[in-house]
Amino acid sequence: MKSFDLVIVGGGMVGASLALSLAKTDLKIALVDQQSLSAPVFSPDSSYAPRVSALTEASSRLFQRLGAWEAMTAQRVMPYQHMSVWDGEGTGEIAFDAKAAGFKTLGHIVENEVIRNALLKSLAQTDIECFSDQSTLDYQLGDPHQVQLEHETIAARLLVATDGAESRLRKLSGIPSSQKDYRHHAIVTTVATEQHHQDTAWQIFLASGPLAFLPMPSRGERHYCSIVWSLVPDKADEVLSLGDEAFCRAIESAFESRLGKVLAADPRFRFPLKQRHARQYHRNRIVLAGDAAHTIHPLAGQGVNLGLQDVEVLSEEIIRALERGDDFSASHILNRYERRRMGSNLLMMKSMEGLQNLFAADDIGIRWLRNTGLKWTNSLPLVKDLLIKQAMGV
Ligand SMILES: Cc1cc2nc3c(=O)[nH]c(=O)nc-3n(C[C@H](O)[C@H](O)[C@H](O)COP(=O)(O)OP(=O)(O)OC[C@H]3O[C@@H](n4cnc5c(N)ncnc54)[C@H](O)[C@@H]3O)c2cc1C
Repeated sequence: MKSFDLVIVGGGMVGASLALSLAKTDLKIALVDQQSLSAPVFSPDSSYAPRVSALTEASSRLFQRLGAWEAMTAQRVMPYQHMSVWDGEGTGEIAFDAKAAGFKTLGHIVENEVIRNALLKSLAQTDIECFSDQSTLDYQLGDPHQVQLEHETIAARLLVATDGAESRLRKLSGIPSSQKDYRHHAIVTTVATEQHHQDTAWQIFLASGPLAFLPMPSRGERHYCSIVWSLVPDKADEVLSLGDEAFCRAIESAFESRLGKVLAADPRFRFPLKQRHARQYHRNRIVLAGDAAHTIHPLAGQGVNLGLQDVEVLSEEIIRALERGDDFSASHILNRYERRRMGSNLLMMKSMEGLQNLFAADDIGIRWLRNTGLKWTNSLPLVKDLLIKQAMGV
């Protein structure tokens, strides 16, 4: 049986980033994923992938430190300088501008496939042992823990669960988590628009849920946006049953034709949205990070950014313990990680819940308040500056 100091279960964006951020330590590390951990060949002519992330400045800086950012920019990333958010049921509107806040960009829209591809390329140059295309079938908890894979069993002192929202390892650890159904389904796809997106991330809040148009690189005269349209499930069923032409008209009308006509749409995909939060981030030398620890509504595009902040803090604590000659898997080390991350993750989760409720409210008083609030905030440069920095993770 192969033995490791640390086994990371789940090689998504968060697990792969964690593996890379610990790659230079003396720890013997394994990364396991049921999907392939080899970077597929990227074709610049390929159509845009339906899943994208709005990466904050903090996340792109992390990728720079991990040596993966260059490979992302060499594939495709879309910087955006402006953000425009408005109330579809009223007149409130708020706009953010990178230059006015003293930044070059507000963030980057990057396809998840591109992020993972670049991380896997960098991982291939490290000593991390990758167990590719192998689901974890069973665990035997002890000291060390044993992880049964499809073809072998491996052992480790510390297990990190980065196996996503439905994390089996979190469930097995016995860590309780709270869960709330947002009663929203997100429809994602890419659309071609008549007008250029003006390097702007757009979001309209409708009574049925928020709709985001995220800028993607243009191809010649053709302009593209990646869409996240959150809807109550019945409405999502309705929208998903539309043919291409009817879908283009429906989304164009919901978006108030801000970018002119919607000319074409790729196939649509649906993601039911749930808020989850683990009550502890570690127990018995099993530690949670990313979606395995928390999931939030994608309306502010913060989910993976929070996971990447988990990566920064967890790797910092582990490295500091190693430098001091401490046991990196000790409870007091993992407590520090939990203390440093839980508060900010909870705050973001509650903010998203509050925003969703605020914009779903039909009450005339609340509608007046949110319209006035948006206009008022838009006229206060200092408050906007604070909001921008929060959204950028800096
Ligand atoms: C519609 C939508 C839009 C979003 N937009 C944004 C955005 O703009 N910005 C943002 O920051 N976030 C966004 N998010 C959130 C973001 O996508 C997630 O937070 C992120 O994907 C979580 O990454 P992860 O690595 O923690 O988990 P995952 O991406 O779920 O990765 C988990 C990995 O574990 C592997 N795995 C699972 N089980 C096993 C097992 N038993 N054995 C082996 N391997 C296993 C899986 O194969 C997978 O590779 C959005 C989410 C949705 C639904």
